[in-house]
Amino acid sequence: MRPSLIDPLFAEASHLPGIGPKTARHYLRLPKPRGGIVRVIDLLFHLPIDVIDRRARPTIAAAVVNSVVTLAVRVVEHQPPPPRSRAPYKVLVEDDTGDCLLVFFLSNHEWIEKALPKGATRYVSGKIELWDGYRQMVHPDQVMDEAGLARMDAIEPVYPLTEGLFARAAIKAARAALARVPQTMPEWLDEALLARRNWPDFTTALTHLHKPATAADVLPDGKARTRLAYDELLAQQLALLLVRRAEVRPAGRAVISEGLIAARVIKALPYALTHAQSLALAEIAADLKSDHRMMRLLQGDVGSGKTIVAFLAMALVAEAGHQAALMAPTEILARQHFDRLKPMADAAGLRLACLTGRDKGAGRARLLADLANGSIDLVIGTHALFQDEIEFHDLALAVVDEQHRFGVEQRLALGTKGGKVDVLAMTATPIPRTLVLTHFGDMDVSLLREKPAGRTPIRTSAIPDERLGEVVEGLARALKTGARVYWICPLVHENEELDLAAATERYAGLGKIFGPDVGLIHGQMPARDKDAAMAAFQAGTIKILVATIVVEVGVDVPEASIMVIEHAERFGLAQLHQLRGRVGRGQAHSSCVLLYHGPLGEMARKRLKIMRETEDGFRIAEEDLALRGEGEILGTRQAGLPTYRVADLEVHHHLLEVAGDDAKLIQARDPRLESQRGQALRVLLHLYERREAIRLMQAG
Ligand code: ADP
Ligand code: MG
Repeated sequence: MRPSLIDPLFAEASHLPGIGPKTARHYLRLPKPRGGIVRVIDLLFHLPIDVIDRRARPTIAAAVVNSVVTLAVRVVEHQPPPPRSRAPYKVLVEDDTGDCLLVFFLSNHEWIEKALPKGATRYVSGKIELWDGYRQMVHPDQVMDEAGLARMDAIEPVYPLTEGLFARAAIKAARAALARVPQTMPEWLDEALLARRNWPDFTTALTHLHKPATAADVLPDGKARTRLAYDELLAQQLALLLVRRAEVRPAGRAVISEGLIAARVIKALPYALTHAQSLALAEIAADLKSDHRMMRLLQGDVGSGKTIVAFLAMALVAEAGHQAALMAPTEILARQHFDRLKPMADAAGLRLACLTGRDKGAGRARLLADLANGSIDLVIGTHALFQDEIEFHDLALAVVDEQHRFGVEQRLALGTKGGKVDVLAMTATPIPRTLVLTHFGDMDVSLLREKPAGRTPIRTSAIPDERLGEVVEGLARALKTGARVYWICPLVHENEELDLAAATERYAGLGKIFGPDVGLIHGQMPARDKDAAMAAFQAGTIKILVATIVVEVGVDVPEASIMVIEHAERFGLAQLHQLRGRVGRGQAHSSCVLLYHGPLGEMARKRLKIMRETEDGFRIAEEDLALRGEGEILGTRQAGLPTYRVADLEVHHHLLEVAGDDAKLIQARDPRLESQRGQALRVLLHLYERREAIRLMQAG
């Protein structure tokens, strides 16, 4: 299926002249291997990071210490080390201005004698250094005669190396690979863009990188590298769109609702929807109404009010006579959603059920039967909802709450339940814009950037844990005024038991001071006890809730106004932000105490500082990206999402959007990639091995 033009690039690298299997294997140890075989293309995309400029041709006396120079020298004498000594082999050389030692450690003496015959003129290139006040060059990179000098590359690329892979071998490998690149490749980039950016074509770009003429040729933001990075981003964006088309196409069901029930629910709310909420709802309603399959990401900071938006969308679906499901990440959250939404559903005449792993026996069987016969309109649950045994009568909308690890493959898979299911994914971890484009480029996005009115800012402080006593005294004062407190004990140890012990100990310690006002909740508790603890906290019979991070996502108790996080230095930014978002939901002034155990490392200090500076989840997400890199934020390392071979988002992020627009235009004009440019773009998709896209194109 691969265009034969680029077949040579996918041949095994070890078949290249001068490259043995041994050299090729070294490339597998480099950071971005693809599969188990090193191919020509892998050598091509292994790009230089610097150059060595050998153009300086000073006399020995004028050579700048610690710079790379190429010297013309006469060989004066050889100073081999005494037998069996580990001392270096030295060769004294000179010109009319001075002399210099060439120093070789553990080298082949025979070779040295041959390459540097006494009395001959030779050219040596390498770094000149001072040792004991004497000029020397340790292991010249090159030792040449007249003919060799004529062949020398004045500017030499420098490649990232790995154990066993040497600079010369890497250069040789890249050269051999470059020779396999077709001289003329079809151009897949838009001519106007090329002209405007003044980018070279693909082959020229690779040539500039592997045979640089100046240091600028290999710069990450140089024209050659940028062109290739753009190619890669375009291939990715185009692939995402092709996947998306495949997701959307089989749908073709319009959910027609007048929105009467939703309107009634809105009217009964004790608050008005924010502008952002109304807008998101309108976007969702339009998706539902259209006969395309919805793939929408609802992004909103903690507390921005995503749940009600989801519920209203579900109400639209129910009014149209279909079913909707909401999937929460934990049982607690599922129950909480259910408890909140049940009264609204009842008032609106919608039949709402809750299904988690906890439901067993006859009750569960009845629930499943009701789902299958359609007597349940809306269901809330955990991932148990999407198990095979569960049958829906007519599922039209799946809402996935708090889901930011939601890969392309999962998105494709979710559609299988009911086949025409619209999908709304909600994430409370704001995702930086660049990451949305790279990983969710196939989804539409609704943003809830604005928070419901009436929220007061949260005062955040970072306090070393030696001052725990003061914090407890502060709590005592706050409790008198009716405050409610979360006290988070993190997972610190490898061992869950130990962590539990820490939480239990804290619970006991606080219990001595505050008595029955203190409650405990953790992941190992039986579900009923968890519910009971949550309910008691909600009702205010418990005023301090000591918790492991089970409360991390989504739990909503508006009366809670103080958040204490122990070992705050152990948490990531996103988690801290999530936890803090549990307070500041009601009218009372809220505060968040980050108790840390010093001394703080660099990263931890930065995280706590950012937490004190801002409450804006989107800004925190950007900072998180800067601190951690993209892989960790989305859990891509675990999920195996692609990393880039050529592009570096830190340098090339500004091209993402351009590539995204470009891809959309291509999709609009030539969806099947049949035009001349379309054919060229197919070559591009193959070059970057966008298999999912290639497969879909072949499927039709
Ligand atoms: P999240 O986006 O974190 O899931 P929730 O949906 O749990 O947030 O909403 C947080 C709280 O805000 C809830 O108590 C909810 O009732 C309330 N809320 C939602 N929308 C509004 C609004 N427009 N005005 C006031 N309060 C709102
Ligand atoms: Mg939520």
